Amino acid sequence: MTKEILVIGSLNMDLIVQTEKYPRKGETVPGENFKQVPGGKGANQALTAGKLGGQVRFIGSCGKDEYGTTLLNNLKNGGVIVDDILRVEKNTGIAMITIEKEGSNRIIYVKGANEYVTPDVVMKMEDRFKKASILLIQMEIPLESVIKAVELAKKYQMKVILDPSPVQGLPEKIFPLIDYILPNEIELDELVKNGCQIEEEKAKHLLKLGTNNVIVTKGKNGVSHYYEDKVATYESYHVKAVDTTAAGDAFAGSLAYGLSQGWSLEKTIKFSNLVAANSVTKLGAQSSLPTYQEVMKFAK
Ligand code: ATP
Repeated sequence: MTKEILVIGSLNMDLIVQTEKYPRKGETVPGENFKQVPGGKGANQALTAGKLGGQVRFIGSCGKDEYGTTLLNNLKNGGVIVDDILRVEKNTGIAMITIEKEGSNRIIYVKGANEYVTPDVVMKMEDRFKKASILLIQMEIPLESVIKAVELAKKYQMKVILDPSPVQGLPEKIFPLIDYILPNEIELDELVKNGCQIEEEKAKHLLKLGTNNVIVTKGKNGVSHYYEDKVATYESYHVKAVDTTAAGDAFAGSLAYGLSQGWSLEKTIKFSNLVAANSVTKLGAQSSLPTYQEVMKFAK
C-alpha cells in the first residue's frame, strides 16, 4: 500500500541567466537565455515524488505574489497536496542562478516567505504527522522548525529522510531521529568536522551519532550507502549532463517515493539514481523532473 509522504520545506522561484563568463567586482557582462523556473529544495523534492505518482503533502510558505501562485500551481499539477502552504505578506523566496558556459553555477538566494515556516507553524500541523508515514525535509527553512518537525515525526513513528542542505550546524540530539541522511560530498565534509579525512570515516561518524543510513551522493561518481558496519556502492548512469541543478532533489524525492511504495532500499537507491540522471539531461529545477512513465522510457 502506498504511504503518504509529508514534505516540509522551501519554495523558490529560480531566476536563471546564462553567461560566457562571470562579472568581476564592479563589472557588467551580457547574459542570455533568461528563464524563471519554479524551484526551492522542498518544492523540487515534493514535486519529484508527486510526479512519480506518490501521495505527497507539502507544508511551506510563499508570498501572495505571482511567483507564489506559479509555484503553487506547479506543485498542484504534479499531484502534490498544497492545502497547507501558507500565503504570507512577504515576497516568495527567490534564487538568482548564473550559469557559466561550461555549466558551473553560482547562486544567491533570498529566503523571503520561507522564513515563515516557524516551529509554531509545524506544531499547528501536528495532525498531518499522524496520517503520513515518511517525513522528507531539507534545510532551507529555519533550523528550529526542522528540529521540531523531526521530533514530531518520531512521535508518530514516521521514517525521517533529511537532506542536510544547505548545511547548518545540527545538534547531536537530532541524529538518532534520522533514518536516512543524504549529504553530497561537500555537505558530508561540513557535517563532520572532527578531523576525519576519509569519506567512510565521516559517514561512520554519523552512524555512530545514531543515524541509521548515510547515503552520500557524488554526482556522476555514484552513491555510497553506509549502514551498520557495511557500505554498498552504486554507479551513476552515463548521461550527457546539461544542467545538474536539482539532481540532489530528484534523488531525495525519488528515495521518498520508493520507500513509500514499500520497495527495498537497494531497489529504491537504484531507481533514485535513474531519476536523478534523467533530471540532469534537462535544464532547470522543476522543469527537469520526470514522470514515472518518462523514467521507464529513459531506462530502456
Ligand atoms: P544539486 O545540489 O545540484 O541538486 P547535489 O550536489 O545535492 O545536487 P549530486 O551528488 O551532485 O547532488 O547529484 C545527486 C545525484 O544525481 C547523484 O547521486 C546521481 O544519481 C545524479 N547525478 C548528478 N550528476 C550526474 C551526472 N553528471 N551523471 C549522472 N548522474 C548524475
